[in-house]
Amino acid sequence: MSTTNVLSFDVEHWYSATLLRDAVCDPETHIGRSVAIVLDTLAAYDVRATFFVVGELAREHPSLVAKIADAGHEVASHGHTHRPLFELDRETFAGELAHSARAIHDATGTRPVGFRAPNFSVTRRTGWAIGMLAAAGYRYDSSVFPVRTPMYGVSGAPVGPYRPASDAPFEARERGGDLVELPLAVFHPRLRLPVAGGFYARLLPSSLLARGIATLNARGLPATVYFHPWEFNPAVARAVNDADVGAHERFVSAYGIRRLQDKLEALLDEFAFDTAASVAREYARDPVENVSRHRIEG
Ligand SMILES: [Zn+2]
Repeated sequence: MSTTNVLSFDVEHWYSATLLRDAVCDPETHIGRSVAIVLDTLAAYDVRATFFVVGELAREHPSLVAKIADAGHEVASHGHTHRPLFELDRETFAGELAHSARAIHDATGTRPVGFRAPNFSVTRRTGWAIGMLAAAGYRYDSSVFPVRTPMYGVSGAPVGPYRPASDAPFEARERGGDLVELPLAVFHPRLRLPVAGGFYARLLPSSLLARGIATLNARGLPATVYFHPWEFNPAVARAVNDADVGAHERFVSAYGIRRLQDKLEALLDEFAFDTAASVAREYARDPVENVSRHRIEG
Protein backbone atom coordinates (compact mmCIF):
# COMPACT_ATOMS: atom_id res chain seq x y z
CA MET A 1 0.00 0.00 0.00
CA SER A 2 1.41 3.34 -0.93
CA THR A 3 1.88 6.08 1.65
CA THR A 4 -0.10 9.28 1.21
CA ASN A 5 2.13 12.34 1.32
CA VAL A 6 1.31 15.95 2.16
CA LEU A 7 1.27 18.47 -0.67
CA SER A 8 1.32 22.08 0.49
CA PHE A 9 1.67 25.58 -0.88
CA ASP A 10 2.58 28.65 1.16
CA VAL A 11 0.52 31.48 -0.26
CA GLU A 12 2.33 34.78 0.08
CA HIS A 13 3.68 37.50 -2.16
CA TRP A 14 6.91 36.60 -3.94
CA TYR A 15 8.60 39.58 -2.31
CA SER A 16 7.64 38.35 1.21
CA ALA A 17 10.68 36.08 1.17
CA THR A 18 13.13 37.18 3.84
CA LEU A 19 15.85 37.84 1.29
CA LEU A 20 13.69 40.22 -0.71
CA ARG A 21 11.31 41.87 1.69
CA ASP A 22 13.39 45.02 2.21
CA ALA A 23 14.74 45.25 -1.32
CA VAL A 24 11.61 45.45 -3.43
CA CYS A 25 9.31 48.44 -3.38
CA ASP A 26 5.93 48.83 -5.05
CA PRO A 27 6.08 45.49 -6.88
CA GLU A 28 3.42 43.79 -8.92
CA THR A 29 2.11 40.79 -6.94
CA HIS A 30 1.39 38.23 -9.71
CA ILE A 31 -0.52 36.30 -7.00
CA GLY A 32 -3.72 35.63 -8.96
CA ARG A 33 -1.92 34.12 -11.93
CA SER A 34 0.50 32.20 -9.70
CA VAL A 35 -2.34 30.54 -7.75
CA ALA A 36 -4.24 29.83 -10.98
CA ILE A 37 -1.25 27.95 -12.43
CA VAL A 38 -1.15 25.72 -9.32
CA LEU A 39 -4.93 25.17 -9.20
CA ASP A 40 -4.93 24.12 -12.88
CA THR A 41 -2.14 21.61 -12.27
CA LEU A 42 -3.88 20.12 -9.22
CA ALA A 43 -7.16 19.86 -11.14
CA ALA A 44 -5.39 18.10 -14.03
CA TYR A 45 -4.02 15.52 -11.58
CA ASP A 46 -7.20 15.40 -9.49
CA VAL A 47 -5.21 15.90 -6.29
CA ARG A 48 -6.05 17.93 -3.18
CA ALA A 49 -3.51 20.06 -1.36
CA THR A 50 -3.22 22.42 1.62
CA PHE A 51 -2.70 26.13 1.04
CA PHE A 52 -1.15 27.91 4.02
CA VAL A 53 -2.38 31.44 3.43
CA VAL A 54 -1.01 34.64 4.98
CA GLY A 55 -3.93 36.39 6.74
CA GLU A 56 -3.18 39.81 5.26
CA LEU A 57 -3.26 38.28 1.79
CA ALA A 58 -6.65 36.70 2.55
CA ARG A 59 -7.86 40.18 3.50
CA GLU A 60 -6.50 41.68 0.24
CA HIS A 61 -7.69 38.83 -2.01
CA PRO A 62 -10.67 37.11 -0.35
CA SER A 63 -12.13 35.86 -3.62
CA LEU A 64 -8.83 34.24 -4.60
CA VAL A 65 -8.73 32.40 -1.25
CA ALA A 66 -12.39 31.41 -1.65
CA LYS A 67 -11.52 30.00 -5.08
CA ILE A 68 -8.85 27.76 -3.50
CA ALA A 69 -11.39 26.41 -0.98
CA ASP A 70 -14.11 26.02 -3.62
CA ALA A 71 -11.73 23.84 -5.67
CA GLY A 72 -11.76 21.36 -2.74
CA HIS A 73 -8.42 22.27 -1.18
CA GLU A 74 -7.68 22.97 2.45
CA VAL A 75 -6.96 26.56 3.49
CA ALA A 76 -4.78 26.79 6.62
CA SER A 77 -2.92 29.57 8.42
CA HIS A 78 0.52 30.93 7.55
CA GLY A 79 0.30 33.68 10.18
CA HIS A 80 -1.24 37.07 9.61
CA THR A 81 1.70 39.30 8.67
CA HIS A 82 4.27 36.65 7.68
CA ARG A 83 6.54 37.80 10.51
CA PRO A 84 8.64 34.84 11.75
CA LEU A 85 8.09 33.72 15.34
CA PHE A 86 11.56 34.97 16.28
CA GLU A 87 10.11 38.49 16.03
CA LEU A 88 7.03 37.67 18.15
CA ASP A 89 6.24 36.92 21.78
CA ARG A 90 3.30 34.89 23.09
CA GLU A 91 0.95 37.83 23.05
CA THR A 92 1.73 38.98 19.51
CA PHE A 93 1.67 35.37 18.30
CA ALA A 94 -1.82 34.93 19.77
CA GLY A 95 -2.84 38.05 17.82
CA GLU A 96 -1.33 36.65 14.59
CA LEU A 97 -3.32 33.41 15.04
CA ALA A 98 -6.59 35.17 15.81
CA HIS A 99 -6.32 37.69 12.96
CA SER A 100 -5.33 35.13 10.34
CA ALA A 101 -8.06 32.69 11.43
CA ARG A 102 -10.65 35.44 11.14
CA ALA A 103 -9.40 36.54 7.72
CA ILE A 104 -9.52 32.94 6.44
CA HIS A 105 -12.95 32.39 7.97
CA ASP A 106 -14.25 35.56 6.35
CA ALA A 107 -12.93 34.45 2.95
CA THR A 108 -13.91 30.76 3.06
CA GLY A 109 -16.53 30.34 5.80
CA THR A 110 -14.28 27.87 7.61
CA ARG A 111 -11.74 28.33 10.38
CA PRO A 112 -8.28 26.87 9.74
CA VAL A 113 -7.26 23.74 11.69
CA GLY A 114 -3.61 23.81 10.64
CA PHE A 115 -0.68 26.21 10.91
CA ARG A 116 2.69 26.71 9.25
CA ALA A 117 5.06 29.29 10.70
CA PRO A 118 6.62 31.79 8.30
CA ASN A 119 10.22 30.72 7.59
CA PHE A 120 9.62 27.44 9.51
CA SER A 121 10.34 29.56 12.59
CA VAL A 122 9.20 26.95 15.16
CA THR A 123 12.63 26.08 16.58
CA ARG A 124 14.03 25.38 20.05
CA ARG A 125 13.87 29.15 20.73
CA THR A 126 10.16 29.34 19.87
CA GLY A 127 8.95 25.86 20.92
CA TRP A 128 6.36 27.58 23.16
CA ALA A 129 4.28 28.05 20.00
CA ILE A 130 3.35 24.33 19.94
CA GLY A 131 1.47 24.51 23.25
CA MET A 132 -0.27 27.69 22.12
CA LEU A 133 -1.44 26.11 18.87
CA ALA A 134 -2.86 23.13 20.76
CA ALA A 135 -4.60 25.43 23.25
CA ALA A 136 -6.06 27.48 20.38
CA GLY A 137 -7.68 24.31 19.00
CA TYR A 138 -5.40 23.69 16.01
CA ARG A 139 -5.29 20.03 15.03
CA TYR A 140 -1.88 20.09 13.41
CA ASP A 141 1.22 22.16 12.85
CA SER A 142 3.63 21.81 9.93
CA SER A 143 6.51 24.14 10.80
CA VAL A 144 9.31 21.91 12.07
CA PHE A 145 12.22 21.35 9.71
CA PRO A 146 14.14 18.45 11.28
CA VAL A 147 17.51 19.71 10.06
CA ARG A 148 19.67 22.65 11.06
CA THR A 149 20.11 25.25 8.29
CA PRO A 150 21.49 28.78 8.65
CA MET A 151 17.96 30.23 8.70
CA TYR A 152 15.85 27.66 10.58
CA GLY A 153 15.54 24.04 11.64
CA VAL A 154 15.61 21.76 14.68
CA SER A 155 18.35 19.14 14.54
CA GLY A 156 17.25 15.91 16.19
CA ALA A 157 13.51 16.50 15.75
CA PRO A 158 11.49 13.50 14.45
CA VAL A 159 11.41 13.16 10.63
CA GLY A 160 7.85 11.74 10.57
CA PRO A 161 4.53 12.88 12.07
CA TYR A 162 4.36 12.90 15.88
CA ARG A 163 2.25 14.31 18.69
CA PRO A 164 4.36 16.81 20.62
CA ALA A 165 3.65 17.56 24.26
CA SER A 166 3.75 21.28 25.17
CA ASP A 167 6.74 20.69 27.44
CA ALA A 168 8.60 18.60 24.81
CA PRO A 169 7.73 20.13 21.42
CA PHE A 170 10.42 18.23 19.49
CA GLU A 171 10.11 14.74 20.94
CA ALA A 172 7.95 11.84 19.79
CA ARG A 173 6.58 10.40 23.00
CA GLU A 174 4.26 7.50 23.67
CA ARG A 175 1.69 9.86 25.18
CA GLY A 176 1.88 13.14 23.33
CA GLY A 177 -0.61 15.97 23.17
CA ASP A 178 -3.58 16.37 20.85
CA LEU A 179 -1.74 18.39 18.21
CA VAL A 180 -0.09 16.48 15.34
CA GLU A 181 3.20 17.83 14.00
CA LEU A 182 3.91 17.17 10.31
CA PRO A 183 7.64 17.91 9.91
CA LEU A 184 8.97 18.98 6.51
CA ALA A 185 10.56 16.20 4.47
CA VAL A 186 14.28 15.61 4.72
CA PHE A 187 16.27 13.10 2.72
CA HIS A 188 18.52 10.54 4.41
CA PRO A 189 18.14 9.88 8.13
CA ARG A 190 21.69 10.96 8.95
CA LEU A 191 22.54 13.64 6.39
CA ARG A 192 19.03 15.11 6.65
CA LEU A 193 19.21 17.05 3.41
CA PRO A 194 16.14 19.23 3.01
CA VAL A 195 14.26 18.03 -0.07
CA ALA A 196 10.90 19.37 0.97
CA GLY A 197 10.42 22.18 -1.50
CA GLY A 198 11.02 25.83 -2.10
CA PHE A 199 14.57 26.69 -3.11
CA TYR A 200 15.77 23.09 -2.60
CA ALA A 201 13.13 21.72 -4.97
CA ARG A 202 14.14 24.29 -7.58
CA LEU A 203 17.84 23.50 -7.07
CA LEU A 204 17.84 19.69 -6.86
CA PRO A 205 17.05 17.36 -9.78
CA SER A 206 13.59 15.80 -9.59
CA SER A 207 15.15 12.31 -9.32
CA LEU A 208 16.67 13.34 -5.99
CA LEU A 209 13.37 14.83 -4.75
CA ALA A 210 11.62 11.59 -5.70
CA ARG A 211 14.27 9.52 -3.92
CA GLY A 212 13.84 11.62 -0.77
CA ILE A 213 10.10 11.01 -0.73
CA ALA A 214 10.52 7.31 -1.56
CA THR A 215 13.04 6.90 1.28
CA LEU A 216 10.56 8.26 3.82
CA ASN A 217 7.69 6.23 2.33
CA ALA A 218 9.79 3.05 2.52
CA ARG A 219 9.89 3.61 6.30
CA GLY A 220 6.10 4.04 6.29
CA LEU A 221 6.39 7.81 6.78
CA PRO A 222 4.61 10.45 4.70
CA ALA A 223 6.71 13.23 3.17
CA THR A 224 5.48 16.77 3.67
CA VAL A 225 6.50 18.88 0.69
CA TYR A 226 5.91 22.59 0.13
CA PHE A 227 6.05 25.05 -2.71
CA HIS A 228 5.03 28.68 -3.21
CA PRO A 229 2.57 29.47 -6.01
CA TRP A 230 4.89 32.26 -7.22
CA GLU A 231 7.61 29.67 -7.86
CA PHE A 232 5.57 28.40 -10.82
CA ASN A 233 5.13 31.78 -12.48
CA PRO A 234 7.75 32.82 -15.09
CA ALA A 235 6.63 36.44 -14.68
CA VAL A 236 8.01 36.32 -11.12
CA ALA A 237 11.40 35.11 -12.37
CA ARG A 238 11.49 38.19 -14.58
CA ALA A 239 10.41 40.43 -11.68
CA VAL A 240 13.17 39.06 -9.44
CA ASN A 241 15.71 39.65 -12.17
CA ASP A 242 14.52 43.24 -12.51
CA ALA A 243 14.64 43.86 -8.75
CA ASP A 244 17.53 45.74 -7.19
CA VAL A 245 18.97 42.77 -5.27
CA GLY A 246 22.34 41.03 -5.08
CA ALA A 247 23.39 37.91 -6.99
CA HIS A 248 22.84 35.62 -3.97
CA GLU A 249 19.29 36.89 -3.35
CA ARG A 250 18.49 36.62 -7.05
CA PHE A 251 19.81 33.04 -7.21
CA VAL A 252 17.89 31.82 -4.14
CA SER A 253 14.68 33.58 -5.19
CA ALA A 254 14.50 32.92 -8.91
CA TYR A 255 16.66 29.88 -9.73
CA GLY A 256 14.76 27.04 -11.36
CA ILE A 257 11.34 28.70 -11.58
CA ARG A 258 10.94 27.69 -15.23
CA ARG A 259 11.55 24.01 -14.49
CA LEU A 260 9.53 23.61 -11.28
CA GLN A 261 6.26 22.86 -13.04
CA ASP A 262 7.79 19.74 -14.66
CA LYS A 263 9.25 18.63 -11.33
CA LEU A 264 5.89 18.96 -9.56
CA GLU A 265 4.16 17.00 -12.32
CA ALA A 266 6.80 14.25 -12.07
CA LEU A 267 6.08 13.97 -8.33
CA LEU A 268 2.31 13.94 -8.91
CA ASP A 269 2.81 11.15 -11.46
CA GLU A 270 4.79 9.00 -9.05
CA PHE A 271 3.40 9.59 -5.56
CA ALA A 272 0.05 9.87 -3.75
CA PHE A 273 -0.67 13.23 -2.10
CA ASP A 274 -3.47 14.71 -0.01
CA THR A 275 -4.12 17.63 2.33
CA ALA A 276 -2.21 18.08 5.58
CA ALA A 277 -5.45 17.86 7.57
CA SER A 278 -6.30 14.49 6.09
CA VAL A 279 -2.82 13.01 6.69
CA ALA A 280 -2.72 14.53 10.22
CA ARG A 281 -6.02 12.77 10.99
CA GLU A 282 -4.27 9.39 10.58
CA TYR A 283 -1.89 10.33 13.38
CA ALA A 284 -4.39 11.96 15.71
CA ARG A 285 -5.36 10.42 19.00
CA ASP A 286 -8.17 8.08 18.00
CA PRO A 287 -11.38 9.40 19.58
CA VAL A 288 -13.25 6.15 18.95
CA GLU A 289 -10.54 4.12 20.64
CA ASN A 290 -10.48 6.53 23.60
CA VAL A 291 -14.20 6.24 24.06
CA SER A 292 -14.23 2.42 24.06
CA ARG A 293 -11.26 2.25 26.43
CA HIS A 294 -13.06 4.61 28.74
CA ARG A 295 -16.11 2.35 28.70
CA ILE A 296 -14.09 -0.75 29.51
CA GLU A 297 -12.28 0.98 32.38
CA GLY A 298 -15.27 2.77 33.78
ZN1 LIG B 1 6.10 31.90 3.96
